[in-house]
Amino acid sequence: MWHNVSVTPDAAPLIPTILHVAVPGPLRRLFDYLPHVGHDPLTPLQPGIRLRLPFGRSERIGILLGVDNYSALEPQRLKPALALLENQPLLSPPLLQLLQWASRYYHHPIGEVCSTALPKRLRQGNAAIINTPRCWTLSAAGAALSPDRLSRLQRQAPLQWQIFQQLQQSPTGLTPDRLKLYHPAPAATLKRLQTQGWIELAQRAPPPAAVTWNTTEPTLHANSEQQHAIATLIAGLGKFHTYLLDGITGSGKTEVYLQAVAAVLQRGGQTLLLVPEIGLTPQLVERFSQRFNTTIGLLHSALNDQERSDVWLRASRGEIAILIGTRSAIFTPLPRLGLIILDEEHDASFKQQDHFRYHARDVAIKRAQMESVPIILGSASPSLESLHNAWQQRYTHLLLRQRAGGAVPPRIHTIDLRQQRLQEGLSATLLGAIGDHLERGGQVLIFLNRRGYAPLLLCHHCGWSFQCRHCDARLTLYHGQRDLRCHHCGSSQPRPEQCPECHSSELRPIGNGTERIELALNSAFPEVPVLRIDRDATRRKGALAEILAEIQQGQRQILIGTQMIAKGHHFPAVTLVGIINGDQGLYSVDFRAGERMAQQLIQVAGRAGRAERAGEVVIQTHAPDHPLLAPLLAHDYHRFARDALRERQAVGLPPFRHLALIRADATQASGAQTFLQEALGVLQPAADVEIFGPLAAPMERRAGQHHYQLLLQARQRQPLHQLLEQKLDAIAQLKSARQVRWSLDIDPIEIS
Ligand code: ADP
Ligand code: ZN
Ligand code: ZN
Repeated sequence: MWHNVSVTPDAAPLIPTILHVAVPGPLRRLFDYLPHVGHDPLTPLQPGIRLRLPFGRSERIGILLGVDNYSALEPQRLKPALALLENQPLLSPPLLQLLQWASRYYHHPIGEVCSTALPKRLRQGNAAIINTPRCWTLSAAGAALSPDRLSRLQRQAPLQWQIFQQLQQSPTGLTPDRLKLYHPAPAATLKRLQTQGWIELAQRAPPPAAVTWNTTEPTLHANSEQQHAIATLIAGLGKFHTYLLDGITGSGKTEVYLQAVAAVLQRGGQTLLLVPEIGLTPQLVERFSQRFNTTIGLLHSALNDQERSDVWLRASRGEIAILIGTRSAIFTPLPRLGLIILDEEHDASFKQQDHFRYHARDVAIKRAQMESVPIILGSASPSLESLHNAWQQRYTHLLLRQRAGGAVPPRIHTIDLRQQRLQEGLSATLLGAIGDHLERGGQVLIFLNRRGYAPLLLCHHCGWSFQCRHCDARLTLYHGQRDLRCHHCGSSQPRPEQCPECHSSELRPIGNGTERIELALNSAFPEVPVLRIDRDATRRKGALAEILAEIQQGQRQILIGTQMIAKGHHFPAVTLVGIINGDQGLYSVDFRAGERMAQQLIQVAGRAGRAERAGEVVIQTHAPDHPLLAPLLAHDYHRFARDALRERQAVGLPPFRHLALIRADATQASGAQTFLQEALGVLQPAADVEIFGPLAAPMERRAGQHHYQLLLQARQRQPLHQLLEQKLDAIAQLKSARQVRWSLDIDPIEIS
């Protein structure tokens, strides 16, 4: 490999300076260049700067990783770089180290890994300049509006009113990344308020060089479990260690984060908080900004490229004390990093599922280790991997077993569906419970992880069912039965009037989706509003925020939703949670399905009775005695996890084995099979690694492509990674590789 040798002016003139550069592209290696023409040899070329490079017949932006005097290429074949984009590194040494580790661990091209770390604008070669941060504030005229005028605004323009209110509560103003969290598409509304002269876009004072910290909201008096967790975490600052904060929903994990972060701020450190999806957790962000009078930066999907690059640059220059972001925020440079927190650490969205398939949790742990800072993994339903590590004492296990502030855990019980008459999937028992809770003024939350009206349309006469033409999948009935749509390739068609097979018009929707339950609830409780929360109902920007705001009003209503509602929200007025299909996930081919079902149950159940009213959770199931359900009914996730881990150990699955998956898809099944068969030939013999396949993926045909895979399994990580390291280039060079799309997934979270 290369060495970091700084260029000294008195270096022998004949030995050229060689730049080793990470350039985006499929090749798993660095590229060598000469310094650009006119480079002053006195200017140091530091790793982490961007270079504009000639590449084939075009240009690319690369990241300098090393400088020395050696290249395997003959000197005359080396080309000079075109330009240096900055003198000071954009990526810091610890971050470069992390990216190189990730590239090796995931066997992903270093150029692609480095470019993932940068926000798009910087990846494209734009100057690393921060738009002077500006924020929205009330104008003098806005602050002086009469109560009369304000209540008229509230009635006539609720969106304007919401933003106005938000600004009223933030005397120092709101930056676009904050404002957009609540109002993902605020442009038109802001314009209207601005035209009236009630709000203005103000230049913000430059942020303080050193981060100031002071409490604007009193810290809560921590209970004894919280105190123990906080004290342990604070004692551990300044060195690497992994903590699993394993606390039931409502146990006050956020308060523990807040007090640990306070200690980090006092030491002048920066905190990185990763969450599965920021749009779903505005309340968490709200609590951080209420507690701390400091710079909080948010990286989320509603930001435009400029805003994203601004937040990234401010964080990397140390101007942001608390950076809250989703998965990819793990690659933001933070010069004074003091603590990493991963909230809802079990959440599958921390794993990137295409291209560079990293797991943000695993990268975060590596980063904490490299930068000698502690990392907190928090969850009410930790992943089996993390629990296993805690039980093996690799992580410190911090337990919060009580609900904070006196709320009691909900009562959980099942409704045995066998032989019950169902009304559109709803049992009489569940309907009765919904009625009771509504009568007492509570909100009711109904959970069904299936979108659409019905998952199947069947001909009653001949049994014909409507399948997708491009996938091995049934079509879902949508829009009050008007359309048929495929969840896997997105194709859709109007619902036919007749069976194409026997021309009967007796077509029947089978099974239930959220749309159908919504209609059923509407007719069972005509006087109560029903709100649906799923990907279809919240597609419009800002729709989710509006629905959530409405729920917070606490009015009597029924909410029906998919897993979207299971994440992180507080619904203080919800007293009943009904789970329509407790059997979903009990019988699946994927080895993680049971774990995912248990986590979802815990999360959904955790929405009930979070305030002073006690909650109730009912699960409709055809298998009330299923061994997976019993521990969950007893609020014993740990027993569930122990059983599940024992099973994984018996059959040889993670965390007891290490997995890698080579996937291939092609328009002909034989193309994918041939490639994988040849890849298998390249990989063998493979000492200490078992290889299974080529096998068809659980859904073999998707969007017209045939999916096959090769599963690699090993007791030790090392031989698996060594094998891949040695053989991947040969696999990439197979002729059959050109006929397929293929990829490697290290530590896959689903085998499909
Ligand atoms: P979790 O993240 O574990 O689900 P939260 O941190 O959201 O739980 O806390 C649940 C509720 O309990 C919040 O309303 C929070 O303000 C409150 N809470 C947390 N800790 C305490 C405490 N020590 N005393 C009183 N209330 C608390
Ligand atoms: Zn038919
Ligand atoms: Zn399809």
